[in-house]
Amino acid sequence: MKITRLETFQVRPRWLFLKIHTDTDIFGWGEPTLEGRSQTVEAALREMERTLVGQDPRRIEHLWQQLYRGTFYRNGPVLCSALSGVEMALWDILGKSLNAPVHQLLGGRVRDRIRLYGWIRGERTGDYIEDVVHEIATGQFTAYKMLPVPAMRAVEPPSVVEKIVRGVAAVRAAAGPNIDIALDFHGRVAPAMARRLARKLEEFEPMFLEEPVLPGDVRALKEVAQSTTIPIAAGERLFTRWGFQELIEQQAVAIVQPDLSHVGGILEARKIAAMAETRDIALAPHCPLGPISLAACLQVDACTPNFLCQEHLTLGESYLQTPFEVVEGHVAVPEGAGLGIEVDEAKVRAGVFAGDWETPQFRHADGSFAEW
Ligand SMILES: [Mg+2]
Repeated sequence: MKITRLETFQVRPRWLFLKIHTDTDIFGWGEPTLEGRSQTVEAALREMERTLVGQDPRRIEHLWQQLYRGTFYRNGPVLCSALSGVEMALWDILGKSLNAPVHQLLGGRVRDRIRLYGWIRGERTGDYIEDVVHEIATGQFTAYKMLPVPAMRAVEPPSVVEKIVRGVAAVRAAAGPNIDIALDFHGRVAPAMARRLARKLEEFEPMFLEEPVLPGDVRALKEVAQSTTIPIAAGERLFTRWGFQELIEQQAVAIVQPDLSHVGGILEARKIAAMAETRDIALAPHCPLGPISLAACLQVDACTPNFLCQEHLTLGESYLQTPFEVVEGHVAVPEGAGLGIEVDEAKVRAGVFAGDWETPQFRHADGSFAEW
């Protein structure tokens, strides 16, 4: 079998889909979405296509090495997102060629169903608390994540801290003790304020605190982790196993969150999970992206013992022939071949746009730039 062509689709709301064609009737889907920079990734894929065409798509590790190391320059969000999409599509092809789901090729499933967490955005009613009450009443999920902090300066007055604490307290009160609530600071908070907030939020027993500070500064993350009993999570903006190495060795987090569309793909995330397992660190793949990325995550979740919970924003209603179904906060381990999904290509073509999604821009009160 040989790779013949790479086809890309920029689709709404902000996703990039990749279809790898072969000289057989088997093709594979991947999702190399890089939010706000997917057009750049598309250009990288055009260059990777020159390496891939004519090669056997089933030599996944070999092709990964060639794409990652082959041009001397490596790593970073653009190249790793392109590589991730390719890698997912290669696994989809391999699985389809053997009529086996990817998780079976990675050792087989270690669980019967996969726990998903939902998002509380305060978008439905403009109010977090009303939204959480509504969400929990639906009984769809047993865990949710919220973003409780606004754009934050290096130091904020007590009123800002109190407002954040009141918001989380109200969500916890509405959710009760049986629902997990995760908090995401989105890297908006400086280390000193992160420690102050973590101390005050501890009593609400969050499932985890994500990106309390910007990723990449392992020492700052570790300082926050050592200052609180809240499990710290990070990793969505890190790339490859080398990007996670120090985080794991230093035990700076309790949970790693590789994003399968950025980290280097399915096997890269599985390798990172194995590294994390040696330090008793759990895996919760980051996925605010489209249904192909989610499908790749579910394959890893199915076969990874230290998996905790899976993020998602869509169950694939817009682009899959059969969307994922949530029962009691879980989805069944996908049993279809490859990634276990059937992409609805007519819907994909209908969803195509220029790919010019803009990352929201935040400003502080004095007009200076703030972290999103
Ligand atoms: Mg996050």
